[in-house]
Amino acid sequence: MSIDEQRLRATFDALTTDGRTPEGGLNRPALSTAHLAARQRFAEMITAGGFAVHTDGAGNVSARWQAAGPAAPTLMIGSHLDSVPEGGRFDGALGVAAAYEVLLALHECGEAFNANLEVIDFTDEEGTWVSLMGSRAISGQLTARDLANPRGNPAVFEKRLARAGLTRSGILAASRAEEEFKAYLELHIEQGTRLESSGTNIGVVTGMVGIFMYLVTFRGTANHAGTTPMDRRRDAAQGASAFALQVRTIIMDRFPDCVATVGNMTFEPGAFNIVARSVACFMEFRSSDIARAHALQRALRTMAFREAERFNLEVDFEHLETVQPRTMDGHVQRTFHAAAAHLGLTTTGLPSLAGHDAQSMALLGPAGLIFVPSVGGFSHSAREHTRWEDCIRGCSTLFEAARRLLSDPPDAAPIAGARQAV
Ligand SMILES: [Zn+2]
Repeated sequence: MSIDEQRLRATFDALTTDGRTPEGGLNRPALSTAHLAARQRFAEMITAGGFAVHTDGAGNVSARWQAAGPAAPTLMIGSHLDSVPEGGRFDGALGVAAAYEVLLALHECGEAFNANLEVIDFTDEEGTWVSLMGSRAISGQLTARDLANPRGNPAVFEKRLARAGLTRSGILAASRAEEEFKAYLELHIEQGTRLESSGTNIGVVTGMVGIFMYLVTFRGTANHAGTTPMDRRRDAAQGASAFALQVRTIIMDRFPDCVATVGNMTFEPGAFNIVARSVACFMEFRSSDIARAHALQRALRTMAFREAERFNLEVDFEHLETVQPRTMDGHVQRTFHAAAAHLGLTTTGLPSLAGHDAQSMALLGPAGLIFVPSVGGFSHSAREHTRWEDCIRGCSTLFEAARRLLSDPPDAAPIAGARQAV
């Protein structure tokens, strides 16, 4: 009893056709023409496979198999078919292709199961418009405010929703009941080098890092770039640049378990012949531990004020948004380890440094995520690659874990506690 490797390849190739770039990557931001074409192709594939296509108010497309009857809970397996602009082929699409192969293989094996199965493609995981939109809608975390503040142009967002047949009220009404839900499983590429460098087959994710976002603004005085003596300047560019360099030093010296990025600096007035009046720095850092995150926040804030003083500036250190860290379910993690061991594969537990749909689904109930190695760690680029044998290993592990979870006795206690606190 196993997956069909050739069929998996054919599914993956079909699901990575629309939006293919000349460099071999994928360009299909959520709700773009290429993205909608890929979803249409997936829906036709589901129908051809003999399953019912289900589409919800958030546009999530799924294949449903009622293996155990209407009263039984549903095991969901999924990922996403959207990509970042000029992204790679494996991010998301591999997870959907593998989930669909698991459905076909389990359906064929003829075993009796105690839960139903649903394979799902979530809308806008990458946050072209609203980050993790489909999975946050299903797990009841999306608000009207989130939809009113898309990342892209709101008018264009409105048009794209309409073209996809979606409405704001429909998206907000897509949440599901906890009782119908057994667990959520996902296969994803690692997008890093930890598995490759340790020679491990499968990464079993222990949790997702929290993401802490800040706007740090240094303020001085705009002045003439020629006639203002260097020792009289209140140059916001100096403070902001020193800050950006010190962020790296603090992480390297004191917080090696965290990462931090100054991804954008906006200079005002922003001319080459004017000393900068102000510089706004967008900074985020990531940590899997709340206490560590608080300690890092204090260290960064203290440093920002010290650098401001050094250059005779004022500084605002403003918190913008936090994505809370999430823990993956213990029983699901153990099932993944056991499934991989059964297949003779090596595993390691590791935190995820990127966001995934599994982190939203963890609010609905038990959720788990496995990684397969990314060659060279490249991702969100056409260079993104996972060796085919590793894709097969990942899909086989997903199959074996799903088979075990679907066979859990129907009266088994819920496999994890209640929803995690938001
Ligand atoms: Zn992804």
